[in-house]
Amino acid sequence: MATTSTSTSTARVRVIARLRPPLPGEVCDDGQTQHYPFHSAYTPHDTSAALFTRDVLPLLNNVLGGSTVTIFAYGVTSSGKTHTMQGEDGIIGMVVDELFKGGGELDISMSYLELYLDAPYDLLVPPTQRRKLQILSTVSRGTNPNPKNTTFGHTIHLPHLSTHPISSVAEFHTLYQRGVRHRSTGATLLNSGSSRSHAVLTFYVGAKGKLHLLDLAGSENNNLTGNDPQRMRESAAINTSLSALGQVVGALNEKSGGSGARIPYRSSNLTRLLSDALGGTSLALLIVCLAPGIKFRGDLVRSVK
Ligand code: ADP
Ligand code: MG
Repeated sequence: MATTSTSTSTARVRVIARLRPPLPGEVCDDGQTQHYPFHSAYTPHDTSAALFTRDVLPLLNNVLGGSTVTIFAYGVTSSGKTHTMQGEDGIIGMVVDELFKGGGELDISMSYLELYLDAPYDLLVPPTQRRKLQILSTVSRGTNPNPKNTTFGHTIHLPHLSTHPISSVAEFHTLYQRGVRHRSTGATLLNSGSSRSHAVLTFYVGAKGKLHLLDLAGSENNNLTGNDPQRMRESAAINTSLSALGQVVGALNEKSGGSGARIPYRSSNLTRLLSDALGGTSLALLIVCLAPGIKFRGDLVRSVK
């Protein structure tokens, strides 16, 4: 993988790549060089801190200024999504340190949910109270200055999603670890793996700022999942939502280039949930996580597409 970097300043969604190092026992057997355009690219030698400084930190100023920002980690299972987002030195920890750097004078609260089989569940309530959340959208009055802007005036609400004020880094970690445990408990109850759901951590900052951090489900192909009907259902839901996300990102970046294509938000709950976060003046960063070697070549090519 070459670390070609191009810049398209009009893109609504910055798309960047991170190639992880080979794991112990993995052979480095892929000698080919391929070139793909990304806004930035990170080699196996680059740290999460480098990615944070270059691509995440500038977006936090937008959140503090009252905008909505969404950061996704996308890629096959084992490509490094969780490592990048919630690892020991992952982006989530660095974001929280940054938000509380000023000594905690900002009003910050959080929510944490997962989308399993395209249905949202609150991860910050006890698993015994686990139930599907409703997603409602309300449309405010007013004239849309641009009829092609399909998200104008739309606000997404999850009326039963719990939100929790946090006043320190330590308080965040206690709550977040609870959510992470609930994610895997939910996965066990459902005879699933936690990487079979999308996890959405949201920070509400000040009066208007919003930051979504997503650890997406692995994008593995169907023939890896065998004949287990539950796995097939999971795979289908994951593929539907990830391809909807791909179409939304494609349409948004095309639109900022001027074509005015309609954005297909409604084709999955993942994109519906994020529809007021991925249009208008909102910004997003898609981190494509990649694994090395021939074993992952097909997945790598699918991911970068
Ligand atoms: P995913 O969430 O995409 O399934 P993980 O984040 O769990 O993948 O990563 C799979 C394995 O690779 C883990 O053991 C993780 O620690 C390791 N790993 C991933 N990315 C890196 C990296 N950039 N540097 C070192 N180890 C990594
Ligand atoms: Mg993971």
